Parts: sequence; structure tokens; C-alpha cells
Amino acid sequence: MAWFKRELKGIITTTEEKKEAPDGIWNKCPNCKKPLHYSEQVENQYVCHYCGFHLRIGSKEYFSVLFDNNEFTELFADLTSGDPLHFEDTKKYTDRLKETQKKTGLKDAIRSAAGKIEGQDIVIACMDFNFIGGSMGSVVGEKIARSIDYALEHKVPFLMISKSGGARMMEAAFSLMQMAKTSAKLALLSQAKIPYISLLTDPTTGGVTASYAMLGDINIAEPGALIGFAGPRVIKETIKKDLPKGFQTAEFVQEHGFLDFIVDRREMKEKLASFIKMMKN
Ligand SMILES: [Zn+2]
Repeated sequence: MAWFKRELKGIITTTEEKKEAPDGIWNKCPNCKKPLHYSEQVENQYVCHYCGFHLRIGSKEYFSVLFDNNEFTELFADLTSGDPLHFEDTKKYTDRLKETQKKTGLKDAIRSAAGKIEGQDIVIACMDFNFIGGSMGSVVGEKIARSIDYALEHKVPFLMISKSGGARMMEAAFSLMQMAKTSAKLALLSQAKIPYISLLTDPTTGGVTASYAMLGDINIAEPGALIGFAGPRVIKETIKKDLPKGFQTAEFVQEHGFLDFIVDRREMKEKLASFIKMMKN
């Protein structure tokens, strides 16, 4: 009966000898389900090297991918949200803000910074989806407006990286006003002939799509990004028709004329640098 007994030693590793993989070092690609090591993700600009899926990342990662040597000066870092409506749902808005700030280490759903891309000056504002779904409240709008003022004053191009579920419900009309405010500021940038590039990442929806995300001199997106205004279920119920396949993907949106380019994140920095050079001349 020896065929099913393990006679050789060392096949079963005792628990003490097992090498532990620290938490968070590995995670699974949401698309192809293959394991990705953290260092490989960083090296590959957070794109799955098996299937090309673009992992969702935040401002910290985008800044490291785009700014030369990850060197930048953060702008207006201390702006935080008030609670003008004394809003309360399952919890108080002020408590929700405090908790999210503690959990994410972020002050709100956007960070803005000045630095260089391939030696050329740029201001980048980048949204963080981790912070209340990347929702656009007063702080998001104000930081974008001030970043545009900074770009105007220093005559440097402005790059906006959008990643948002839309307006922040807890700020109601104050949130919607940000659409008009940012659009008006972008018009000033346009008058001054300073380039504005909009980069739409997964997902870009709601009031963000309906304002600054679609107002770029060049609108670009990452492959496979969800881009839309209302969600597919709402549209389906309104028009009472089935939606076409791939509806609201970056590829579909580009085919229908709303995007200029889809750029792989691994080539993003190089492409952005050449766009800036081209627009400056
Ligand atoms: Zn994959």
C-alpha cells in the first residue's frame, strides 16, 4: 500500500518553514484573474502584463508614472470640505469625511501638483476614486479652478486626470455649481491659448463627463475605461431599448467621436510629452 503513502521526507513543508508572502504584495488581475506581484505592477505602470488590463490607481500612482523622477510640488494640499447643508444619510457628512480622510490619507477626491514631463513644465490635477467614489464636491471644483489659475499665471499646460462617479450628493447644488465654475475657468485657459489635456480613466461618469472631462483641447482615455453620463440601467429604462455591445467603453465613445485618442498607460508619458511639444509650437 506504499503507493499512496509519502515515504520521502521534505515533501510536506512544516508551517514554521513556510515563507509568508506579506499582505498586499500580490493581488489578482480583475480581468484575467492571474496573480500580479506588486513590484511587477509598479514596473509595468499598473497594467496587467498578461492581458493589458489597466488597474485602477490613484493620484499617488499617476504622479509617479508621469512626473519626471516622481518630483513635484503639491498645490493647495490643505483644502478640505465644509458641510454647508448639514447633510446626514446613514451617517453625518462631516463624520464620513473624517473617516475617509483617515482611511485614505487624502484630504479630498483630488490632488493637484506642478512638475515636469520629459523636462516640460506641467500642472496635473488627478482625482482619487477611493475618496467617496471620486465624487466632485466643492473642494474638487475649487482645486481645479485654482490649478487653472496657477497654469494661467505660470503659462504652463494643464492636465486633468478624471476618475469619478459624478457629483457629490452630500453637497447637492454646491456640487453642481462646480461644473459651471470649472468650465468657465477652462474658457479663460483657452483664451490665453494655454493647452488643456483631459485624460479620462476608469470610470469617468456623471457631472464630471458633462463638464471639464470633455472640454480638453485633446481628450484622451485609457483602454477599456467606462465613460458615460448616466449609468446603463437608467438609460435602458428611459429609452426602453437594449443598449449596443460595449456601450460606454472608451473604444465605443471614441468611435462615436467624443474622444481623440486611446492611449496605453505604458506609453502615456511619452504621448503627453509629444502633445505638449506639438501644442506649444
Ligand atoms: Zn490580466
